[in-house]
Amino acid sequence: LERALARVERDAAIGRMAAGVAHEIRNPLSSIKGLALLLRGRLDNDALAAENLDLLVAEVERLNRSIGELLDFARPGHLETTRVAVDALVARGVALLRSDAQASTVEIRESYRCRDAFITADEDKVLQVILNLGINAIQAMPDGGRLAVTTQCDERTATISIEDSGPGMAPEVLEKVFDPYFTTKPEGTGLGLSMSKKIVEDHGGSITVDSSPGAGTQIAIHLSRS
Ligand code: ADP
Repeated sequence: LERALARVERDAAIGRMAAGVAHEIRNPLSSIKGLALLLRGRLDNDALAAENLDLLVAEVERLNRSIGELLDFARPGHLETTRVAVDALVARGVALLRSDAQASTVEIRESYRCRDAFITADEDKVLQVILNLGINAIQAMPDGGRLAVTTQCDERTATISIEDSGPGMAPEVLEKVFDPYFTTKPEGTGLGLSMSKKIVEDHGGSITVDSSPGAGTQIAIHLSRS
Protein backbone atom coordinates (compact mmCIF):
# COMPACT_ATOMS: atom_id res chain seq x y z
CA LEU A 1 0.00 0.00 0.00
CA GLU A 2 2.77 2.44 0.89
CA ARG A 3 4.38 1.52 -2.40
CA ALA A 4 1.20 2.48 -4.27
CA LEU A 5 1.09 5.83 -2.48
CA ALA A 6 4.78 6.43 -3.12
CA ARG A 7 4.09 5.96 -6.84
CA VAL A 8 1.98 9.11 -7.03
CA GLU A 9 4.83 11.11 -5.57
CA ARG A 10 7.43 9.34 -7.69
CA ASP A 11 5.43 10.03 -10.88
CA ALA A 12 5.31 13.71 -10.01
CA ALA A 13 9.07 13.74 -9.34
CA ILE A 14 9.74 11.98 -12.67
CA GLY A 15 7.57 14.54 -14.42
CA ARG A 16 9.53 17.42 -12.92
CA MET A 17 12.84 15.75 -13.75
CA ALA A 18 11.81 15.07 -17.35
CA ALA A 19 10.75 18.69 -17.75
CA GLY A 20 14.15 19.80 -16.42
CA VAL A 21 16.11 17.44 -18.66
CA ALA A 22 14.03 18.41 -21.69
CA HIS A 23 14.79 22.06 -21.05
CA GLU A 24 18.53 21.36 -20.72
CA ILE A 25 18.53 19.46 -24.03
CA ARG A 26 16.27 21.74 -26.01
CA ASN A 27 18.29 24.91 -25.50
CA PRO A 28 21.56 23.59 -26.95
CA LEU A 29 19.55 21.83 -29.68
CA SER A 30 18.10 25.10 -30.82
CA SER A 31 21.62 26.62 -30.88
CA ILE A 32 22.84 23.67 -32.96
CA LYS A 33 19.99 24.13 -35.38
CA GLY A 34 20.56 27.89 -35.62
CA LEU A 35 24.27 27.48 -36.26
CA ALA A 36 23.67 24.75 -38.83
CA LEU A 37 21.25 26.98 -40.71
CA LEU A 38 23.80 29.80 -40.60
CA LEU A 39 26.50 27.54 -42.09
CA ARG A 40 24.03 26.19 -44.61
CA GLY A 41 23.47 29.72 -45.86
CA ARG A 42 27.17 30.06 -46.63
CA LEU A 43 27.55 26.79 -48.49
CA ASP A 44 25.97 27.65 -51.82
CA ASN A 45 28.92 26.26 -53.77
CA ASP A 46 29.32 22.99 -51.83
CA ALA A 47 26.24 20.92 -52.59
CA LEU A 48 27.31 17.85 -50.61
CA ALA A 49 28.07 19.83 -47.43
CA ALA A 50 24.79 21.71 -47.81
CA GLU A 51 22.90 18.44 -48.14
CA ASN A 52 24.57 17.08 -45.03
CA LEU A 53 23.66 20.19 -43.08
CA ASP A 54 20.05 19.73 -44.18
CA LEU A 55 20.23 16.22 -42.75
CA LEU A 56 21.72 17.59 -39.54
CA VAL A 57 18.89 20.10 -39.18
CA ALA A 58 16.30 17.40 -39.87
CA GLU A 59 17.86 15.18 -37.19
CA VAL A 60 17.86 18.02 -34.68
CA GLU A 61 14.17 18.53 -35.36
CA ARG A 62 13.52 14.82 -34.95
CA LEU A 63 15.29 14.84 -31.59
CA ASN A 64 13.24 17.83 -30.54
CA ARG A 65 10.03 15.94 -31.36
CA SER A 66 11.13 12.85 -29.40
CA ILE A 67 11.80 15.03 -26.38
CA GLY A 68 8.31 16.48 -26.72
CA GLU A 69 6.89 12.96 -26.74
CA LEU A 70 8.96 11.92 -23.73
CA LEU A 71 7.69 14.96 -21.90
CA ASP A 72 4.09 14.12 -22.77
CA PHE A 73 4.61 10.64 -21.44
CA ALA A 74 6.37 11.62 -18.22
CA ARG A 75 4.09 14.53 -17.39
CA PRO A 76 2.09 13.82 -14.24
CA GLY A 77 -1.08 14.42 -16.22
CA HIS A 78 -0.36 11.55 -18.58
CA LEU A 79 -3.11 8.93 -18.38
CA GLU A 80 -3.09 5.32 -19.58
CA THR A 81 -6.82 4.84 -19.86
CA THR A 82 -8.91 1.71 -20.25
CA ARG A 83 -12.55 0.93 -19.62
CA VAL A 84 -12.81 0.31 -15.89
CA ALA A 85 -15.69 -1.22 -13.90
CA VAL A 86 -16.40 1.21 -11.06
CA ASP A 87 -17.49 -1.21 -8.33
CA ALA A 88 -14.65 -3.66 -8.97
CA LEU A 89 -12.07 -0.88 -8.81
CA VAL A 90 -13.41 0.47 -5.52
CA ALA A 91 -13.58 -3.04 -4.05
CA ARG A 92 -9.91 -3.49 -4.96
CA GLY A 93 -9.09 -0.31 -3.07
CA VAL A 94 -11.06 -1.45 -0.02
CA ALA A 95 -9.23 -4.80 -0.03
CA LEU A 96 -5.91 -2.91 0.15
CA LEU A 97 -7.15 -0.73 3.01
CA ARG A 98 -8.47 -3.59 5.11
CA SER A 99 -5.36 -4.41 7.16
CA ASP A 100 -4.70 -0.74 8.00
CA ALA A 101 -8.34 -0.37 9.04
CA GLN A 102 -8.14 -3.46 11.24
CA ALA A 103 -4.99 -2.18 12.92
CA SER A 104 -6.92 0.94 13.99
CA THR A 105 -10.13 -0.94 14.80
CA VAL A 106 -11.90 0.90 12.02
CA GLU A 107 -14.95 -0.89 10.70
CA ILE A 108 -15.41 -0.66 6.94
CA ARG A 109 -18.93 -0.50 5.50
CA GLU A 110 -19.24 -0.96 1.79
CA SER A 111 -22.15 -0.17 -0.47
CA TYR A 112 -21.83 -0.73 -4.19
CA ARG A 113 -24.50 0.69 -6.45
CA CYS A 114 -22.71 1.05 -9.76
CA ARG A 115 -23.28 -2.43 -11.11
CA ASP A 116 -22.37 -2.56 -14.83
CA ALA A 117 -21.14 1.04 -14.76
CA PHE A 118 -17.80 1.87 -16.38
CA ILE A 119 -15.50 4.83 -16.52
CA THR A 120 -12.67 5.53 -18.97
CA ALA A 121 -9.80 5.93 -16.57
CA ASP A 122 -6.23 5.27 -15.62
CA GLU A 123 -7.04 2.47 -13.24
CA ASP A 124 -3.82 2.72 -11.20
CA LYS A 125 -4.21 6.43 -10.69
CA VAL A 126 -7.85 6.31 -9.63
CA LEU A 127 -6.95 3.44 -7.31
CA GLN A 128 -4.29 5.67 -5.79
CA VAL A 129 -6.87 8.38 -5.19
CA ILE A 130 -9.14 5.89 -3.41
CA LEU A 131 -6.19 4.75 -1.27
CA ASN A 132 -5.18 8.34 -0.46
CA LEU A 133 -8.71 9.13 0.71
CA GLY A 134 -9.06 5.85 2.61
CA ILE A 135 -5.69 6.26 4.37
CA ASN A 136 -6.56 9.82 5.40
CA ALA A 137 -9.86 8.58 6.80
CA ILE A 138 -8.19 5.78 8.76
CA GLN A 139 -5.49 8.12 10.04
CA ALA A 140 -8.23 10.45 11.27
CA MET A 141 -9.57 7.62 13.49
CA PRO A 142 -6.58 6.24 15.41
CA ASP A 143 -8.89 5.00 18.18
CA GLY A 144 -11.38 3.37 15.86
CA GLY A 145 -14.51 4.39 14.06
CA ARG A 146 -16.43 3.76 10.87
CA LEU A 147 -15.30 4.10 7.28
CA ALA A 148 -18.12 4.04 4.74
CA VAL A 149 -17.15 3.41 1.14
CA THR A 150 -19.95 3.92 -1.33
CA THR A 151 -20.44 3.98 -5.07
CA GLN A 152 -23.44 5.63 -6.60
CA CYS A 153 -24.31 6.15 -10.23
CA ASP A 154 -26.76 8.16 -12.23
CA GLU A 155 -27.00 8.12 -16.02
CA ARG A 156 -23.97 10.33 -16.53
CA THR A 157 -21.85 10.23 -13.41
CA ALA A 158 -20.24 7.71 -11.11
CA THR A 159 -19.63 8.96 -7.57
CA ILE A 160 -17.19 7.26 -5.24
CA SER A 161 -17.55 8.40 -1.67
CA ILE A 162 -15.29 7.84 1.33
CA GLU A 163 -16.80 8.88 4.62
CA ASP A 164 -15.33 8.64 8.11
CA SER A 165 -16.61 9.13 11.64
CA GLY A 166 -13.43 10.94 12.66
CA PRO A 167 -13.10 14.41 14.20
CA GLY A 168 -13.82 16.32 10.98
CA MET A 169 -12.04 19.48 9.98
CA ALA A 170 -12.09 23.03 11.23
CA PRO A 171 -13.00 25.60 8.55
CA GLU A 172 -9.40 26.91 8.39
CA VAL A 173 -8.14 23.37 7.67
CA LEU A 174 -10.91 22.62 5.18
CA GLU A 175 -9.99 25.76 3.27
CA LYS A 176 -6.44 24.51 2.69
CA VAL A 177 -6.78 20.75 2.26
CA PHE A 178 -6.07 20.83 -1.48
CA ASP A 179 -3.01 23.09 -1.16
CA PRO A 180 0.17 21.17 -1.99
CA TYR A 181 2.28 20.59 1.16
CA PHE A 182 -0.52 21.60 3.53
CA THR A 183 -0.56 19.07 6.36
CA THR A 184 -1.53 18.97 10.03
CA LYS A 185 0.30 15.66 10.57
CA PRO A 186 3.80 15.51 12.05
CA GLU A 187 4.87 13.04 9.37
CA GLY A 188 2.55 14.23 6.62
CA THR A 189 3.62 15.30 3.13
CA GLY A 190 0.51 17.35 2.44
CA LEU A 191 0.49 15.99 -1.10
CA GLY A 192 -2.21 13.32 -0.89
CA LEU A 193 -5.23 15.50 -1.48
CA SER A 194 -3.62 17.93 -3.92
CA MET A 195 -2.44 15.02 -6.07
CA SER A 196 -5.79 13.29 -5.76
CA LYS A 197 -7.51 16.43 -7.00
CA LYS A 198 -5.07 16.72 -9.89
CA ILE A 199 -5.64 13.09 -10.91
CA VAL A 200 -9.43 13.42 -10.74
CA GLU A 201 -9.35 16.66 -12.75
CA ASP A 202 -7.01 15.09 -15.32
CA HIS A 203 -9.88 12.61 -15.80
CA GLY A 204 -12.33 15.47 -16.33
CA GLY A 205 -13.93 14.80 -12.96
CA SER A 206 -14.31 16.69 -9.72
CA ILE A 207 -13.73 16.12 -6.02
CA THR A 208 -15.87 17.47 -3.20
CA VAL A 209 -15.34 17.61 0.57
CA ASP A 210 -17.91 17.87 3.29
CA SER A 211 -16.47 18.12 6.77
CA SER A 212 -17.04 19.92 10.03
CA PRO A 213 -15.73 19.47 13.57
CA GLY A 214 -17.49 16.60 15.28
CA ALA A 215 -19.37 15.51 12.17
CA GLY A 216 -16.71 13.47 10.39
CA THR A 217 -15.53 13.89 6.82
CA GLN A 218 -16.94 12.85 3.49
CA ILE A 219 -14.88 13.14 0.35
CA ALA A 220 -16.43 12.19 -2.97
CA ILE A 221 -15.04 11.94 -6.46
CA HIS A 222 -17.32 12.37 -9.45
CA LEU A 223 -16.36 10.87 -12.79
CA SER A 224 -18.17 10.68 -16.11
CA ARG A 225 -19.51 7.25 -17.02
CA SER A 226 -18.53 5.75 -20.32
P1 ADP B 1 -1.32 14.47 4.53
O1 ADP B 1 -2.19 13.29 4.71
O2 ADP B 1 0.10 14.10 4.22
O3 ADP B 1 -1.41 15.48 5.63
P2 ADP B 1 -3.25 15.33 2.55
O4 ADP B 1 -3.11 16.32 1.41
O5 ADP B 1 -3.76 14.00 2.21
O6 ADP B 1 -1.81 15.25 3.21
O7 ADP B 1 -4.18 15.96 3.67
C1 ADP B 1 -3.99 17.31 4.09
C2 ADP B 1 -4.64 17.55 5.45
O8 ADP B 1 -6.08 17.47 5.31
C3 ADP B 1 -4.31 16.56 6.51
O9 ADP B 1 -3.07 16.84 7.16
C4 ADP B 1 -5.51 16.70 7.47
O10 ADP B 1 -5.36 17.84 8.30
C5 ADP B 1 -6.64 17.01 6.52
N1 ADP B 1 -7.46 15.80 6.24
C6 ADP B 1 -7.44 15.05 5.12
N2 ADP B 1 -8.32 14.03 5.20
C7 ADP B 1 -8.92 14.13 6.40
C8 ADP B 1 -9.94 13.36 7.08
N3 ADP B 1 -10.51 12.29 6.52
N4 ADP B 1 -10.31 13.78 8.33
C9 ADP B 1 -9.74 14.87 8.90
N5 ADP B 1 -8.79 15.62 8.30
C10 ADP B 1 -8.37 15.26 7.07
